Amino acid sequence: MILAVDIGGTTCKLGLFDSSLKLVEKWQIPTDTSDEGGNILKDIHLSFTDKLSVHKLSFDDCTGAGIGVPGPVDFEAGTVNGAINLNWYGLKDIKKEFEEMSGVWTIVDNDANLATLGEQAFGAGQNKDDVVMFTLGTGVGGGVIVNNLLVHGAGGAAGEVGHIKVAVEEDLKCNCGGTGCLESVASSSGLKNMAAKYHREFVPSALDDKISSGSLDAKTIFEHAENGDSLSLYLVDKMSEYLGIGIGNIAATLNPSHIILGGGLSQAGEFLRSRILGKFRKYAFPPAVESTDIVFASLGNDAGIYGAAKIVSQYEK
Ligand SMILES: [Zn+2]
Repeated sequence: MILAVDIGGTTCKLGLFDSSLKLVEKWQIPTDTSDEGGNILKDIHLSFTDKLSVHKLSFDDCTGAGIGVPGPVDFEAGTVNGAINLNWYGLKDIKKEFEEMSGVWTIVDNDANLATLGEQAFGAGQNKDDVVMFTLGTGVGGGVIVNNLLVHGAGGAAGEVGHIKVAVEEDLKCNCGGTGCLESVASSSGLKNMAAKYHREFVPSALDDKISSGSLDAKTIFEHAENGDSLSLYLVDKMSEYLGIGIGNIAATLNPSHIILGGGLSQAGEFLRSRILGKFRKYAFPPAVESTDIVFASLGNDAGIYGAAKIVSQYEK
C-alpha cells in the first residue's frame, strides 16, 4: 500500500494506492494551521491510522508515503523551508517527522511538482516521458518532467515556469519581487495588473465598474472577452501572447510532447487555449510546434495525490 498526501492551506487530500498504483480510497481532512501548523502531520498520521484499520491494514503494510507541500522543498533532504499557507516557518524536516510517526519510508516534494507528475502519469500527459505543466491561478505555478522524472534543479527551483521572463517591457511587478515574469501578466493577479495599466485606453469598458470598485476577477474578464468587450479581449490576447512566448521558449528548450494547462484560469477552456496555441505557433521553434500538444489538465484536485503515489513508486527501494 502507498500513502499519498497533498497538503493544502484549507484541506489535506489523502489517498491509499495499491502497489500497482490503483487508487483504493481517497478522502480529505481539514488543515489545522493553529499552533504554527504543528498538528498537520499528526492529523494526517491519525487519519491514515483510522483508514488503514478500516481496510484491516497497518503502517507495516505500507511501502512508502509521498507528501506534497505548498512551499520550497529540498527534495533530497525531504525538508521544507517555510510554507506560508500552513503557518510553517523556518526549516521543517517533514520526511524525518513523518517517518518517526508512521515507520513508513517517506518522500517529500513541492505540491505543484507532484500535481504535474500526477497529470503526466495518470491524466492529460498520457504517461509520456516529457511533459511540462503551467498552473494558471492566483499566480502561475508548474512543473517539468524530463525522461519520466520531475526536474528539481540544483536548488530546488526548477519548474518555476511562472517566473520565466516574457514581459519585461510591461514593467509590472511580480509576487517574487521581480518584473516581467509570466506570473505578472498571465495569472489572475497579472490580469488585474494589466487591467489597471490599460483600462484608460478602452473607456468605456464593461469592466469599468469592477475596476473602480476593486472587485475585478479573472472570470469576469473572460466572460466579457467572450461577449466582445474590447478591454477584456485585449487583456486575454496579451495574456495569451505572453503564454505563447513562455511556452515557446520551454518547447525550444525541452521539446515536451504535452504542455498541460491547469488551474482556475484554464476553466476559460477553448476560448483561451486556441489563442495560446495561435501565439505558440507564431513564436515557437518550428520543429517543437509539430511535436508539442497544448492540453488541459484532467485530474483536477486529485492530481497531487496521484503524483505523490507515483513518486513513491519511482524512488522506493
Ligand atoms: Zn516572478
